[in-house]
Amino acid sequence: MRVIANLDICQGHARCEDLCPEVFSTDPIEGKVVVQVDEIPDDLIEKVRLTVRNCPEGALRLVKGNAQ
Ligand code: SF4
Repeated sequence: MRVIANLDICQGHARCEDLCPEVFSTDPIEGKVVVQVDEIPDDLIEKVRLTVRNCPEGALRLVKGNAQ
């Protein structure tokens, strides 16, 4: 599983980083999410799923394999 972030709608309020800093950080210059992990480890998938659901802008998607 991978996370795709839509930077056009990300507002950079870093809720994702607060919820799951293992995977998400916030670019201090651009003010947008940075997905730090390519393939999400199995033990983080539920945490990432919760984080994706809690993005207020709907900017994150969890996808299988290399799907866009
Ligand atoms: S919670 Fe969503 S909108 Fe906010 S920084 Fe993270 S990806 Fe961007």
